Amino acid sequence: MSTTSAKLPKSAVVIGGGFIGISSAIHLCSRGFAVTVLEKARSGVGSKKDGECASYGNAGTFAPYATFGLNDDSPASLLTAGVKAFFGGSLMFGSTKSGDEDVANPLSFSLSASNASEVMKFAMHFLRNSSAENRVKTNEGLSELCKRASSSWKETLRLAGVNDARAFLEEHANRNGYLLLTKSRFDSKEVIEKNEERKRLLGDKNIWNHEGEGELIGPEMCKQLEPNLTDSAVANGGVYFKDAWSLRAPDVFLKKLAEFALKMKGPSGGSVVIKAGSSGEVVDVRGEQQNDEKAEIVTKSGDVYTNVHTIVVCSGWRSKEIAKMCGDGDIPLIAERGYSVEFSDTEQVSPSKLLTRATCFQRGGFIISPLQSRLRAAGLVEFGPDQPPTASNLLSLENSTRKLLRNFSDAPPRNKNSDWLGGRPTLPDYLPVLSRSSAKSNVIYAFGHQHIGFTLAGITGKIVADIATTTGAQQRGDDHFPLEPYAVQRFL
Ligand SMILES: Cc1cc2nc3c(=O)[nH]c(=O)nc-3n(C[C@H](O)[C@H](O)[C@H](O)COP(=O)(O)OP(=O)(O)OC[C@H]3O[C@@H](n4cnc5c(N)ncnc54)[C@H](O)[C@@H]3O)c2cc1C
Repeated sequence: MSTTSAKLPKSAVVIGGGFIGISSAIHLCSRGFAVTVLEKARSGVGSKKDGECASYGNAGTFAPYATFGLNDDSPASLLTAGVKAFFGGSLMFGSTKSGDEDVANPLSFSLSASNASEVMKFAMHFLRNSSAENRVKTNEGLSELCKRASSSWKETLRLAGVNDARAFLEEHANRNGYLLLTKSRFDSKEVIEKNEERKRLLGDKNIWNHEGEGELIGPEMCKQLEPNLTDSAVANGGVYFKDAWSLRAPDVFLKKLAEFALKMKGPSGGSVVIKAGSSGEVVDVRGEQQNDEKAEIVTKSGDVYTNVHTIVVCSGWRSKEIAKMCGDGDIPLIAERGYSVEFSDTEQVSPSKLLTRATCFQRGGFIISPLQSRLRAAGLVEFGPDQPPTASNLLSLENSTRKLLRNFSDAPPRNKNSDWLGGRPTLPDYLPVLSRSSAKSNVIYAFGHQHIGFTLAGITGKIVADIATTTGAQQRGDDHFPLEPYAVQRFL
């Protein structure tokens, strides 16, 4: 018996170089895997190309307080939303209120022959997942991940070789908190109950006392925190997460993390390499000739990866196509398209100085974040076909931002070179899939992180490595919270 082969690193192929892919690569390498990350963008990890990499131009908020899925509204308001969507084109999510003058409605549909059945299918699953019982499942499933988001991000940075995580975050993050301007008044029953529920969901891991802790504050206090908000913007007051933080530039953070990953030296020869462009684009996943239970991968350039111990599918919303190649067809994963626009500082005006912290306008469904020498507004939800950005969404994001900030009239037009569209990978119960494929024994799925994929990347990478290093019967996280709620089987 050869002892040499036992020491050889096991191989892993990670499909997709977004936040989930890079975190998975770091955790797998730290457990002794030789990891190859395949990323189809020619410019590599964190690419700007419209619609392809959600990790590029997002709002960058670290959001462990986001314990509710979008299915957490009452069935009546969801039904109203569905009917209006088909007959009215655009509406507010979970609210019968419409026609606000300062912000445009955050939700739009753009149905075409190519995507109508996909959207219908998503909608049917979505409605089913909006029952009281299923909403509890979503909130509890999300909060199990959110509770561990902070500690596992710290662990991810440490494993990647970032020695001083605090200094690294000082460099890359705005640590000034997060202000959520609610669509109902801060002292309304709805907002108070939601905050209490969030506290209950996050409480036992003490995260409530850190990034997850939200304080209800009135309009005056909002104004004190952010004097450049208009009266209309702060009219309802909101929730202030004083210990929250957000990235200055998600793409820069991701690229930096990938650089650290490439230098890693894991146990037993663990390592990370990244292939981009045609040699990183997966075009087929098929059964290995020797063993049909296992999968092998084919790239556009013709490379074939055989005998791979673990394949991780984390290709954002395109994971649906790859899962289908693996034999798990028809998972109702959808691209929940979101947008961002930016206003750059000039010698005369500094839009980036108008806000001191990421501020969310719940009515408008977007977040304005002060970044390095620019201000970014990111959000909206569009269910649309795989096509270029919808110009009216970019314009409405620009106009809404202008209306919510005082002293903005002198600001230059938005920097159109920075206009961006990203597809959030979303499943109708707003929980990710974190499980082995039902059809190929060496494939692990890690997709569907909807609005909080940056936040949940650390814990996801850890879970992927846990699954890869245990047998199918023992798919549990190392602190033993159940992974069943995230199994792909719930859609098959
Ligand atoms: C407007 C907006 C704002 C957001 N704000 C926040 C926020 O504030 N906080 C937060 O936590 N989250 C936020 N999100 C959500 C977050 O961006 C996503 O959940 C996260 O980026 C998903 O990461 P991912 O790695 O799963 O997918 P992606 O980042 O989409 O990465 C998938 C990668 O797979 C590659 N790929 C696809 N197909 C193939 C193939 N066949 N072969 C090889 N590679 C392939 C793609 O090119 C891409 O790079 C926001 C999203 C949007 C759109």
